[in-house]
Amino acid sequence: MASERQIQVGSVPVGGGAPVAVQTMTKTETANLAATMRQIRTVAEAGADIVRVAVPREPDAEALKTIVVESPIPVIADIHFNHTLALKAIEAGAHCVRLNPGNIGGPEKVAEVIALAREKGTPLRVGVNSGSLPKHLRQLEYDNPVEALVTAALETVALMERLDFQDFKVSMKSTSVPNTIASNRLLSQKIPYPLHLGVTEAGTKWSGSLKSAVGLGTLLADGIGDTIRISLSTFHAEEEVKVAWEILKALKLREKGPVLIACPTCGRLQFDMDTVVAEVEQRLEAYEDPIEVSVLGCAVNGIGEARHADFGITGAKDMGMIYSKGEPLKKVPTAQLVDELFKEIDRYYAAGKTIQRDEAEAAEARAWLAENEDATAMTPERIAAMEAAAAENDEAAEQVLEEMLVAPGEKEPAGAAPGNGSAGVSLDEEASPVAGRRFSRG
Ligand code: SF4
Repeated sequence: MASERQIQVGSVPVGGGAPVAVQTMTKTETANLAATMRQIRTVAEAGADIVRVAVPREPDAEALKTIVVESPIPVIADIHFNHTLALKAIEAGAHCVRLNPGNIGGPEKVAEVIALAREKGTPLRVGVNSGSLPKHLRQLEYDNPVEALVTAALETVALMERLDFQDFKVSMKSTSVPNTIASNRLLSQKIPYPLHLGVTEAGTKWSGSLKSAVGLGTLLADGIGDTIRISLSTFHAEEEVKVAWEILKALKLREKGPVLIACPTCGRLQFDMDTVVAEVEQRLEAYEDPIEVSVLGCAVNGIGEARHADFGITGAKDMGMIYSKGEPLKKVPTAQLVDELFKEIDRYYAAGKTIQRDEAEAAEARAWLAENEDATAMTPERIAAMEAAAAENDEAAEQVLEEMLVAPGEKEPAGAAPGNGSAGVSLDEEASPVAGRRFSRG
């Protein structure tokens, strides 16, 4: 369940129903002002709502005074072991301070930090890490790591409440995805404070993104979590922000920029779609609107599952088609598909978000689609549609099958020969798929 309480980290509300905030952490030495500010600007541009900086030494606390003034987004000071640095970070004007009360030197020192935080109106992020639980929970951690994490978090919350301090969010960090999910589910039922989510030391961009998507995505889908951070082993903190946004966009929790839909490709693919999708994805980064753009590897499906997309392309060996909201716009040579797609998108914006359709071009595209569509093909999309319908009920599944067997354009009966052969394209099994060069054009 969503947290009841809300705190304010600089200009960003956290918890209490506020949009889930995207957080990341700089990888630079904080005292290196130029490098740190450069990275903060980069992550802010990528969409970070809040940034955390490590403050392990005096010069970092000193640099913080400038960083909090120059940063375009609120700054959290990350402190471990040294309560004096926590005090200095609050004095420097940090918008929030992260500390684990268990490692800051005892309750008196925590109380000292709390007193100053209260005086300055600085919220805290308090939490526990699976790797550094208090001694009395070590055996429990061995027997039941989830209970140990939650117990440690509850003890921290109790300490804050004893000190009459409620201006905080809580985090429980574990490297284990199941433990992250289970412990946050449990804790969210027990406390009203906002939760910060993350799978700690998740790994490389590839594995870390997947672990985070599974762990954080599961919790967010349950309505649990108020800020998220994707921990990736990369110097490029903006990559963490991009992954966080993809998770939030996939769950439709927040909107930011275009949504790219691309088919998974299969043996019907007739052009180098890897390259096309990569180029479309990269060029879409220049747009801020949440338009949906679809790329289909062939016209066998027609526009099919991507009918709702604002814009889309469907390609074949020499020719492809651009469409909008399920209606063809124009037919273009495959080599020009991407450029023409973006011309159409730009025309749409120039005309105040209105589709500009040339009827003659649209008619030509419709005819091309009717020639290339194959209503009898069992494509991944159609199988998925049948399965989805079957999950609803058998009658709906039959209807999908019937519709499939009668082509919408030419109404060809079932069993007709597929309209698009594969002559002229050869599959190069030796080439690296990573290089995106699986096909050579004949
Ligand atoms: S059948 Fe579907 S998955 Fe296969 S290439 Fe065509 S659109 Fe892509």
